[in-house]
Amino acid sequence: MQEGATEAQTELVISRLVEMGFTVHRSTGVRHTVLGGVGPQDDFDPAILEVMEGVKECHRIVSPYKLASRHFKPAGTIVKIGKVEIGAAQVVSMAGPCSIETAAQIELCAAFVADSGAQIIRGGAFKPRSSPYSFQGLGEKGLELIRAAADRHGLLVVSEVMDQVQIPLLMRYSDILQVGARNMQNFNLLRELGKVRKPVLLKRGIAATIEELLLSAEYIMSGGNYDVLLCERGIRTFETSTRNTMDISAIPVLKRLTHLPVIADPSHGTGKRDYVLPMARASVAAGADGLLVEVHPDPDRAVSDGAQTLRPDQFAEMMRQTRAIAAAIGRSA
Ligand code: PEP
Ligand code: MN
Repeated sequence: MQEGATEAQTELVISRLVEMGFTVHRSTGVRHTVLGGVGPQDDFDPAILEVMEGVKECHRIVSPYKLASRHFKPAGTIVKIGKVEIGAAQVVSMAGPCSIETAAQIELCAAFVADSGAQIIRGGAFKPRSSPYSFQGLGEKGLELIRAAADRHGLLVVSEVMDQVQIPLLMRYSDILQVGARNMQNFNLLRELGKVRKPVLLKRGIAATIEELLLSAEYIMSGGNYDVLLCERGIRTFETSTRNTMDISAIPVLKRLTHLPVIADPSHGTGKRDYVLPMARASVAAGADGLLVEVHPDPDRAVSDGAQTLRPDQFAEMMRQTRAIAAAIGRSA
């Protein structure tokens, strides 16, 4: 309560809390009265109380998400797909083009991605482009190409699902279903992904808080699909030097708040090829369980996101350097 709040104002707040189902613990200080509410409800809006007369501030101490919370599984989740474990000691690398373009392109990608020691190939068949006139992806044909290339090189596949009608198709071809930044709060899609039994890579929205990301994960988990990978891919800020601002601090924050594995995407996080390697190093150092990186045999001719896409030699160097960093913090890569 504010300094000087009247007894009547305090009583009103107490009765409102009781009405909401809380048990109230009152501490009356020389200047301030503090009311602690303990109760079943943890998804209330603190603003309801903050607008009441005499209230100084209201903080929710319990997190509004449950299944995604670290308390739910203190040891941490390991997502297992075949022989690959995400969230264990090894930092897992997922790499490939922004978009699946041709059979030759995806075959070349799979070859050098596998050769550099990555476990998973990425590539979009359905592309969420800012303009409707930009390349929209090859659709099912693209999924066929990435699946075949991945199988030839012993890789797993991660690819984006843009809409719930595409789920059955992605389930046929992809090992991990990616939810793009623009769809992080597409709650109908998230609910449908709660019903499937394949891991979901959930990317942080361009203007989403960490709590909102975790609440989106909660949508998927509350449907019974517990294999959610969270992905920091940069957020929109006032900065214009980079495409997005890669929020490295989100990595340790997420590691504390949730048991779910955390993946870092320094490609979308920076938008520029030259910055991908330093941000990949920083991500591993900060505790990321995996990296998602765009690579292409000829990035300058890529149909999408070429500017942030690594050449094969740059990717091999990234793998060398991040392996050294992983080893320095007691992990492997
Ligand atoms: C992508 O991975 O190519 C992509 C579109 O990412 P985001 O949703 O993070 O923009
Ligand atoms: Mn991209």
